Amino acid sequence: MIARASGEAQWRAQWRGRLHSAADVHRWLRRHGIPAPAAGDTEPSFPVCVTPYYAGLIRRADQSDPIYRQSMPATDEFRSHSGTRQTRDPFGEQQTCSPVPGVIRRYRDRAVILVSVDCAAHCRHCTRRHSLRARDPVARIADVVAWLRQAGDVREVILSGGDPLALSTTRIHRLLDAIRGVSHIRRIRIGTRMPVTLPHRITRDLIAVLARHPPLWIATHFNHPVELTMEAAGACAQLAEAGIPVVNQTVLLRGVNDRVSILRDLFEGLVDLRVRPYYLLHCDPVAGVDHFRVPTRKGLALMRRLRSTLSGLAIPVYAADQPGALGKVPLH
Ligand SMILES: *Cc1c(COP(=O)(O)O)cnc(C)c1O
Repeated sequence: MIARASGEAQWRAQWRGRLHSAADVHRWLRRHGIPAPAAGDTEPSFPVCVTPYYAGLIRRADQSDPIYRQSMPATDEFRSHSGTRQTRDPFGEQQTCSPVPGVIRRYRDRAVILVSVDCAAHCRHCTRRHSLRARDPVARIADVVAWLRQAGDVREVILSGGDPLALSTTRIHRLLDAIRGVSHIRRIRIGTRMPVTLPHRITRDLIAVLARHPPLWIATHFNHPVELTMEAAGACAQLAEAGIPVVNQTVLLRGVNDRVSILRDLFEGLVDLRVRPYYLLHCDPVAGVDHFRVPTRKGLALMRRLRSTLSGLAIPVYAADQPGALGKVPLH
């Protein structure tokens, strides 16, 4: 177990020290002995944002590096995407399934609540890369709770954003208390990439708050075995030891993890950390992420090969979010 005497100070320092442009990241890499060109590329509309911790996992300053590729814009990002069905909001989240601002409901029994617009790091493949803006509405908790009280079919609340764990521990505490006050809500799920991009965020205080509201599940987002560091392992162990189940949603990304050996190491490594691989998600058709997309046929072939060599515990469901369809559809 990793000692964390000043857990709060440590994650705040990582947060404040985030790198906010391609030029910044390159400068940081050079300072840490990794050759990187002096000038950054044109800054993309979805800004670069990386924690020093996550930047520290980069070994090569180019798109062949899985961490660099998830964090830094490829030139393909700036190309036009005419002729594809990619849009800025492929699932109509903003218009069609929002009963109150900041709530997305596509299933009868589950509601997603957008509680934060901030993340520790920006993933280049982010589905919400065009809607995450500081000025966009996050849910007003009083309104959400009022809505939840009369939405008697909702059994599970999924906190998302942005990253819910970007909020202060005090605010998370208040939020969980408020949701827990609605008697028909049976469980809470938190979607967070903190165990991957800022594992220092999983402090003892945070664990104590999360553990007060069982059953509470964490859904996180590891994409590559390089992300399974000592720090990440420590964060996952703390969650497991506090009785908080952790599942993982990997996105299948070309040039990052679209190889059997990589997925095998990732999924087995996760099970070893007591994290259950839950979904392997086909990359959403969002504008600017075309260079990450893998043909469905290839995804299916990868799954077939994994199934013949891996424990069932290590096999996620391969699924795609279908525009128009109501939700994630398993691919067979
Ligand atoms: C993915 C998603 C869920 C959760 O789906 P599960 O299959 O239960 O993981 C719920 N609501 C929305 C809008 C989603 O996109």
